Amino acid sequence: MAGEYEVLLSEEVLQRKVQELGRQITADYRGKRLLLVGVLKGAVVFIVDLARNIDLPLEIDFMAVSSYGASTETSGVVRIIKDLEASLQDKDVLIVEDIVDTGLTLDYLRQNLLSRSPASLRICALLNKRKERKAPVPLDYVGFEIEDQWVVGYGLDSGELHRNLPYIGLVKDAQPLSKREEPCE
Ligand code: 5GP
Repeated sequence: MAGEYEVLLSEEVLQRKVQELGRQITADYRGKRLLLVGVLKGAVVFIVDLARNIDLPLEIDFMAVSSYGASTETSGVVRIIKDLEASLQDKDVLIVEDIVDTGLTLDYLRQNLLSRSPASLRICALLNKRKERKAPVPLDYVGFEIEDQWVVGYGLDSGELHRNLPYIGLVKDAQPLSKREEPCE
């Protein structure tokens, strides 16, 4: 335990994995026009570290989306709060997401971005929860598979706090359902 958190993935373990993902993405996208699309706010820390480990010229842009309330969770209705500034035309787009839970957010984003004619579209998620998906999304790069539990740190929040932790941890009194009442981060 560190304070009120239990460390699930240490800073060292996270950094090693981000370097590994960066090397793999560098090899896969050599000679291509790469655009990293970060999903605010949870993916901010990950995308910055990941970008610094990709040895290619690349662009970074951000989107913010929100899910409607808990009662409509299964509908997968997602609203764009902040859209991309960059055009996707002829670009190789990599969505960078913090964590995949039901898959509804990424499924919506994927369909939405595919309609903008990118040269290619792939997904990189730091964490993937081991659970049945409400929407099956293809994950091209995954950092870690984790159990279905509420995690914080390294960009992930609980009630907007804990994003600044350098590791991924567990908070005992976290309220997972609150994410459905707030912008999806
Ligand atoms: P999905 O649409 O896959 O159900 O939800 C994805 C989003 O829910 C993530 O981008 C993240 O904002 C939030 N989320 C899902 N699980 C967790 C978690 O364990 N911790 C935190 N902090 N956010 C989560």
